[in-house]
Amino acid sequence: MTKRLRIATLGIHHETNTFASNKTTLDDFRHSGLQTYAVQRGQQYYDMHEKSQTSMSGFIQSSKKHDFELIPLLFAATDPAGTISAEVFNTLGGEALEMLRDQGPFDGVLLNQMGAAVSEEYPDMDGELARRVREIVGLNVPVAMTLDLHANVSQQMADETDALVIYKTNPHTDAVPRAHDACDLVVRMATENWRPAKWLEQPPMVVGIFQHDTRDMPMRAVMDDLESVLAQPGIVGGSIGEGYPWSDVHENGLACYVLHEDSLDEAKKAARWIAGRAWVNREALYSPIGPLPAESVEYAMKAASTKGDDSGPIVLLDVGDNIGAGSSGDSTFLLAEAVKRGAKSWLQTIRDPEAIAECLKAGIGTTVTVEVGGKTDSLHGDPVRLTGHISRMSDGRFEDTGVVHAGWRYFDAGTTVVLETEEGPTVVLVTSRVGNMSREQFYSLGYHPDDFDIVVAKGVVSPRPAYQPIASEMITVNSPGATSADMSTFDYNHVRKSLYPLDLGAEYVHE
Ligand SMILES: [Zn+2]
Repeated sequence: MTKRLRIATLGIHHETNTFASNKTTLDDFRHSGLQTYAVQRGQQYYDMHEKSQTSMSGFIQSSKKHDFELIPLLFAATDPAGTISAEVFNTLGGEALEMLRDQGPFDGVLLNQMGAAVSEEYPDMDGELARRVREIVGLNVPVAMTLDLHANVSQQMADETDALVIYKTNPHTDAVPRAHDACDLVVRMATENWRPAKWLEQPPMVVGIFQHDTRDMPMRAVMDDLESVLAQPGIVGGSIGEGYPWSDVHENGLACYVLHEDSLDEAKKAARWIAGRAWVNREALYSPIGPLPAESVEYAMKAASTKGDDSGPIVLLDVGDNIGAGSSGDSTFLLAEAVKRGAKSWLQTIRDPEAIAECLKAGIGTTVTVEVGGKTDSLHGDPVRLTGHISRMSDGRFEDTGVVHAGWRYFDAGTTVVLETEEGPTVVLVTSRVGNMSREQFYSLGYHPDDFDIVVAKGVVSPRPAYQPIASEMITVNSPGATSADMSTFDYNHVRKSLYPLDLGAEYVHE
């Protein structure tokens, strides 16, 4: 009988917006809006994912399918935000690596990363973690890294692992099958004396956030190209990294990655074919054009006045305050327009611990006047003065058993207060920056987004699985903020010298 494989998994999962003013500290890793425990060790890492639909859920399923022993070490994830402090990497990374050293030897390692983590010391934190893992386990132990589609893939990440496996869908609904792909590769590498040939190709281009939905053209064409490569004989894996535009790092941009059974030339040829076709289409793949907040609200109110009662809400996607991409969650550009124009049937969240504290002091059932939102920095509008009846308070926890973006299940928005305002909008004040990717956020408070004329979801693609089923229309609003779709509004210093669209004359050359 052959010995059961022992495969370790660990990860520090973060999407870092280097333009966001709020740094990501160790304190942020003590609390996460995305999961009940921001840092999970050992069995807890296993238990918190077993019934979710995350990458780890896929590792667990695969360990049963392949009958390997999955050893959960440490997993840390917190909400996307600004640059990660050096202390976070040293403390959590240090602890995870120590566990890897102490609990080994292992037959394989599954790195559970998001892929756009930037720390004060390491602009390519994912690559640095992979490098240290490799240092510990050596070349003979296969290492695979699963990644979110928004990863900024570095050469170091490719070099220090044997396989990268990235989600193929945005909204991200395939974390589980991609985790299976990663496990299949690791098991094969661990049992056969084999490693795939790998090639990472990075044409100097960025895919604009408005173009990130993989179900729509033009991004769908890039994913279709990947599928046609994956169908070729000899190709054993491959991924696209859409990139994460708000990290000012060298590897920012599109990545095309291919694994071949044994031929580096074939892997390279295939990756370059996908990259070349995306490059030709670069203009279509970056176009930050959409209605501004004022136009969007005006349009939505007009449309709401003519739509039937049984047709769902008009959902405004607040691009500039994309919580899932590290923004503050307290932008008021849309709320201010709603108040100015007298919108009555309007539902949205605003992160504002200060206003919540005032409401808690006043108590449930009372009426308060508070300044709401716009407090994190100068990018997200001014506070809006509202007078409202405090109708509901909660601890902000809610659960979604459906397929939501990236498969999260146990959410925690922190102390939450609902204000039914005299101005019109119903404003849900939350403490943590949890993205609007689940309708349960409102249902759990007794509010039905389905019953409102207009609902704001702060995000671009991640809210779609939740809101597309009920929306009569979804409008992607070109709002300002830390996640503005327009890259020219940010000051990039560390990206490649010539990168489209920051350099419209960028050229894609390779030997
Ligand atoms: Zn993502």
